[in-house]
Amino acid sequence: MHRKLIVLIISVLTIFQIKGQTLQEFQSILNQFNADSISRTVHDLAAFQNRFCNNTPQGNKAVADYLVQRLREYGIENARVDSFRYSGYTWATGQIDRYFYNVQGSIIGNSNSLDRYIIGAHLDAISTDDYWMLTPTAPGADDNASGCAVFVEIARIFHENNLQPAHTITFMGWDAEEIGLVGSYYDAAVRDSLGETSYITVLNNDMVANQPENLPYTLDLYQYDNSVELHELGTDILERFTTITPNFPDDNSTMRMYSDSWAYDQSGCKAIFAIEHYFTENYHTEQDLPEFLNYDFAKEVAKYNFALLFHYCIADVFTLGEHLPELSESIQLYPNPVQSHCYIHSSTDNAIQSITIFDLSGKTIFQSNENNQFETVYSLDLSFLSHGFFMVKIDTNQGTVYKKIIKQ
Ligand SMILES: [Zn+2]
Repeated sequence: MHRKLIVLIISVLTIFQIKGQTLQEFQSILNQFNADSISRTVHDLAAFQNRFCNNTPQGNKAVADYLVQRLREYGIENARVDSFRYSGYTWATGQIDRYFYNVQGSIIGNSNSLDRYIIGAHLDAISTDDYWMLTPTAPGADDNASGCAVFVEIARIFHENNLQPAHTITFMGWDAEEIGLVGSYYDAAVRDSLGETSYITVLNNDMVANQPENLPYTLDLYQYDNSVELHELGTDILERFTTITPNFPDDNSTMRMYSDSWAYDQSGCKAIFAIEHYFTENYHTEQDLPEFLNYDFAKEVAKYNFALLFHYCIADVFTLGEHLPELSESIQLYPNPVQSHCYIHSSTDNAIQSITIFDLSGKTIFQSNENNQFETVYSLDLSFLSHGFFMVKIDTNQGTVYKKIIKQ
């Protein structure tokens, strides 16, 4: 055999092996997401007692400082408070003119790409009584300490696994969402003035920890007009990598205006907005407390956000899924080496949907037709093949597997 061909064979096999290892690594990273870690952040934020942005002259400066410190704890040294002045009239404050406090910290991408991924949540909270009067406390555990805890947890996972994204990932806490998306409109306007918005994708989590134990985990995903693909990807990721069922709300047009992702969408960014399907009964009250939340659900929400970021910035999570070790073992190809006929056999609960054969240059030399779908035993006449090594791609209803075959 020609030396070059051997090298080629080894490198093709290595590529497939790396894919397999990476999927295992990816799943082992997902397994590191921790409900207690998310709970800790929610408890810390609720312990501020009142995160209404206009509550004191200092506003949410201390809350922003806390989130900066948490991001720095996970190696994001550039994390900082971004304070800005805003004056205007809001329903909850009347005429207002004061400083507000966003948070941002980034893991800088190692490519020259201009693409940037922002994962954020509003850090403020509001609570009113039956007469729409502000109450003494506004713990905001679900709304929206939960969303902040999700991005802090993702920062922890990036740090502890030393993950280097290709594109910059920015973690953000937005102030003053509750009085009219003030923090996010400010930040989106800054990025717009810098000409960045067409490169930006925003993942917004707002209220992501109310989930009754006895009902199926469900997350509502709101779609914006310029980010339909992002929505489809988010849906696929929830189904593939979490215990959550995605839900596409009947009315997509109203709710999506009521959280920070709207401000970015209006500036030309891509955006997606995730919110619990089972809306909390403690919304905007003094009862929005940490003890009422489901942290295992919030953990699954964090995994979904992480998988989206991983997909865009590190590796295609669905290509990783093409070499599932257990799936691979459950599918037999025999005899191998083959002289003329060979058989592909899968377990009864896993139907073979299509077969593709590639030569070592990656050229497709055989593709099964539609009529052969959904079988558990597949017979192949390979007498037409020349001698040598080939890759067989087997699509099944449980995923895709690659096998190498030798033709004699
Ligand atoms: Zn909220």
